[in-house]
Amino acid sequence: MIKHDYDSLAQGTLFDIQRFSIHDGPGIRTLVFFKGCPLRCLWCDNPESLVSTPELGFSIQNCIGCGQCFKVCPTGAIKDDEERVDRRKCIVCGRCAEVCYARALTIIGRTYTVEEVIAEVKKDIMFYRRSGGGVTVSGGEPLAQPEFLEALLRGLRSENVHIAIETTGYAREEVIRKIFPLIDLILYDIKHMDSEKHRQYTGVGNERIHHNARVAAGLGIPIIIRVPVIPGYNDSEANIRATVLFAQELGGVREFHLLPYHRLGQSKYRKLGRKYPLEGVKPPSQQQIEQLAKMVESYGLKCRIGG
Ligand code: SF4
Ligand code: SF4
Repeated sequence: MIKHDYDSLAQGTLFDIQRFSIHDGPGIRTLVFFKGCPLRCLWCDNPESLVSTPELGFSIQNCIGCGQCFKVCPTGAIKDDEERVDRRKCIVCGRCAEVCYARALTIIGRTYTVEEVIAEVKKDIMFYRRSGGGVTVSGGEPLAQPEFLEALLRGLRSENVHIAIETTGYAREEVIRKIFPLIDLILYDIKHMDSEKHRQYTGVGNERIHHNARVAAGLGIPIIIRVPVIPGYNDSEANIRATVLFAQELGGVREFHLLPYHRLGQSKYRKLGRKYPLEGVKPPSQQQIEQLAKMVESYGLKCRIGG
């Protein structure tokens, strides 16, 4: 076995590894999605990222009605309706997913070793080099699995891969100080400048997030501030302006990204047997987003619409 100066057998839980992405950082990238997040943003478009353990998903459109799942469930959690799973009884043993050849039932999330992730990443190294791309760790919140994340980042650095992180910044300061120096670019989400509203919409206040953004800026790592624009929640000009002023005060902020709300995550809530929290909210108009972008640029920041 090859000996590394990082823990190649360290383990963490991921829910996806996506190759050939042109989002979430420069060039062509592999996105590594960590499972588990300390926030509960009402608009989250990755609901499968919230819980840190594997979950059972059900997609009714794939079901061919073979009935195999009923036969194998040890707890009687399979039921004959459009939800298919009684989540109070399900222990996520995965037996139903094993026999579901139509892939209507699937287990979302599994344990990976650092070695496995690096092997996946290495398949595309040639494309990163040519396109100026690399790897983006995302989620969920990667900082919520600090030991695994650190081992993974050290492994990626040993392969000379450009590393970006997409983060809420919600972690202990010691984690920030240990992890961020291993990163080339931080995509830092700022969701609301008013802490009470932040708590109302995401489950936590924004003080720790703002403090850690200052710590990150002090470490001299390039930062892109990203704001999800959610109509009726954080899309007022006053809130976006306050975020721009905060970004300016940080220093080291390269760009400001406005991420317009979309409903692409809605079907994932159904798959997990959860209710979509923003029923009825419509995406912002192109005109509103362009006006906000203009305002951001009037402060001398480069603004991009979308990530
Ligand atoms: S095993 Fe899969 S395809 Fe068959 S009934 Fe169950 S969910 Fe449907
Ligand atoms: S994961 Fe296991 S407990 Fe849950 S529904 Fe499937 S077979 Fe039953």
